[in-house]
Amino acid sequence: MVREPEHNLTQVYGSKVFNDAVMRERLPKETYKLLKQTIDLGRPLDTSIAEVVANAMKDWAITQGATHYTHWFQPMTGVTAEKHNSFISPTQDGRVIMEFSGKELVKGESDASSFPSGGLRATFEARGYTAWDCTSPAFVKEGTLYIPTAFCSYNGEALDKKTPLLRSIQALSKQAVRVLHVLDNEDVESVSAMVGPEQEYFLIERDMYIKRKDLLMTGRTLFGAMPTKGQELDDHYYGNITDRVSSFMSDLDNELWKLGVSAKTKHNESAPAQHELAPIYTTSNIACDHNQITMEMMKRIALRHDLVCLLHEKPFTGVNGSGKHNNWSLSTDKGNNIFDPGQTPEDNLQFLLFLSAVLWAADEYADLLRASISSAGNDLRLGANEAPPDVVSIFLGEQLTSILEHIETGKEDDKTFGGVMMIGVKTLPHLPVDTTDRNRTSPLAFTGNKFEFRMLGSSDSIADANTIINTIVAEILSRIADRLEMSTDPESEVKDIIRGILKEHKRIIFNGNNYSEEWREEAKRRGLPMLSSTVDAIEQLRTSKNITLFAKHAVLSPLEVESRYEIQLENYIKTILIEARTMVQMARQEIVPACMKYAGELAEVYNNTALAGFAVGHDKLKKLTADIALGEQRTYILEELVEKLKPMGYTAECARSITNEMIPAMDSLRECCDGLELEIPSSYWPFPTYTDLLFRRK
Ligand code: ADP
Ligand code: MG
Repeated sequence: MVREPEHNLTQVYGSKVFNDAVMRERLPKETYKLLKQTIDLGRPLDTSIAEVVANAMKDWAITQGATHYTHWFQPMTGVTAEKHNSFISPTQDGRVIMEFSGKELVKGESDASSFPSGGLRATFEARGYTAWDCTSPAFVKEGTLYIPTAFCSYNGEALDKKTPLLRSIQALSKQAVRVLHVLDNEDVESVSAMVGPEQEYFLIERDMYIKRKDLLMTGRTLFGAMPTKGQELDDHYYGNITDRVSSFMSDLDNELWKLGVSAKTKHNESAPAQHELAPIYTTSNIACDHNQITMEMMKRIALRHDLVCLLHEKPFTGVNGSGKHNNWSLSTDKGNNIFDPGQTPEDNLQFLLFLSAVLWAADEYADLLRASISSAGNDLRLGANEAPPDVVSIFLGEQLTSILEHIETGKEDDKTFGGVMMIGVKTLPHLPVDTTDRNRTSPLAFTGNKFEFRMLGSSDSIADANTIINTIVAEILSRIADRLEMSTDPESEVKDIIRGILKEHKRIIFNGNNYSEEWREEAKRRGLPMLSSTVDAIEQLRTSKNITLFAKHAVLSPLEVESRYEIQLENYIKTILIEARTMVQMARQEIVPACMKYAGELAEVYNNTALAGFAVGHDKLKKLTADIALGEQRTYILEELVEKLKPMGYTAECARSITNEMIPAMDSLRECCDGLELEIPSSYWPFPTYTDLLFRRK
């Protein structure tokens, strides 16, 4: 019998997840109720229920084929970590039973000395502890029960990306609830940040991938002349999906659905060989876990299809890079999206207040937003080939901007503005959700009922960016709540607050083309922070303004901030040093020898008496040998720089030398080698070219 695909899908979806339905079925009523209060309302976890939950979880996991469990965590490497333990427990008579205790569910201990801690963990205290995060559901994958956890040191300092995210979620909820209570929403108990991250990626042939040391070692190409065709014809964007890619995508969808990841949209992206997957949005914590699962599955499933998935922000120079659009909104526990303009007068004012709060947050903490998405890979992407620039601004669209400006100037009862009939702010019409999205150049665009933060790099965890968004908005909401709670006339106070925000922070609104040179000039005039490299951006984490912010909302202690700064710095330095060393090797061991071989053969041909008078040929040989010599020289310069920086350690000074000296040296070596690629016959070139990687398919 042929089964309906939808029928299949509804059975497959979430089948490997210890989700709400499973919990309701398998947990005693009282236990279920207590656990739900923690999950839905953020109440403290009642550890007395752990034993019962652990047992139910284990029994269910065994029916899904699990023999092991793991505390799954997200160290500051940006990828996930897991250590598997089996459920087996030996019995007296030499057999085993399957056991899993409440203690094992709630807390784990692991030797974590090899994870980055940024000096937080003394060498004598190498242990790390994992704590169950019940707000993200456990799941079974390849015979193991995965339990999402937070990871911290002996002293409780966060050693992962999830702990600060959870803290920021809590802070944001607390402050948003305060504001909502003043605005007559006393029934709201909690507010969740909702996130839908769109994930971009490239797929290339595995055969070609393994022939390139740069892709193997760094995830991106360090050499490669532009192919004769790029993306200028726009023939890939939303184009037909080939059979191979299509079968990869459906495999991926299936695996993700089983794990409860709601993969929804898939399409080809602008660049050749580039694609995108978007899930349906969920709470920012789960979205973060799901995005990690998605990235991991993309890599794994690509291999099954003899493809390799590249998640690097800029795998190919001169071609679009890959980002991650973080769609963010706020939802009350009653299911209302606070950024939905709404249809009732009260909603409108509340909506405009929260909208303005984000403006304020983004302006005052633009430096932190920039820092939250910085990495060596993303530096290559921002501001190039249709990626947002490194200057933070907000797109609101003309209609909303004009509504806010009318409040600012006190003319909110003006009947016509923004090209739409208005009868004052109080009856703001339901704004259409902007599906066409008129401005795709903005780093932070308001798109109808959510903000789309487009600066995130494709390989990054979304945890950092969301931790920052949640924290800075929490801070602004706390200031607003302070004022509103003191006020006797909240409505006029709200208008006053909006007016004040507009006056002070209007400069963050920019509805024009963010890719243009004029915008850079304009942004400079407006005094918006321009942080063009990771080194400058991460310094912002530890300004006293920002350290105070993190401490006030208990998101990161000063020590934790410092450790994160150090880890990012170290990561930046290591990443580029690996790239530089890889370039040196490829140039010396592959490119130069290949070119020499051709030059030698060319010389032989020209020495042949029959061709001796072929003057053009001699010029060609002269140029080729000169270019090879230049390549060798630039390789040597880069190698010297690597040696010079080695003793500097992972310091800001070293990072600066990398930005100012090493990256230009890498660029100039590349320029020379890319020129050589076009000078010699393709059959001599030692590894697959951009044309091969981007266009040749099996
Ligand atoms: P586009 O490419 O036009 O931006 P996509 O459909 O590719 O749109 O992605 C939009 C993303 O935004 C999806 O992940 C979607 O679930 C998410 N999203 C939609 N509404 C909200 C919301 N209120 N809050 C957070 N994310 C949302
Ligand atoms: Mg999209």
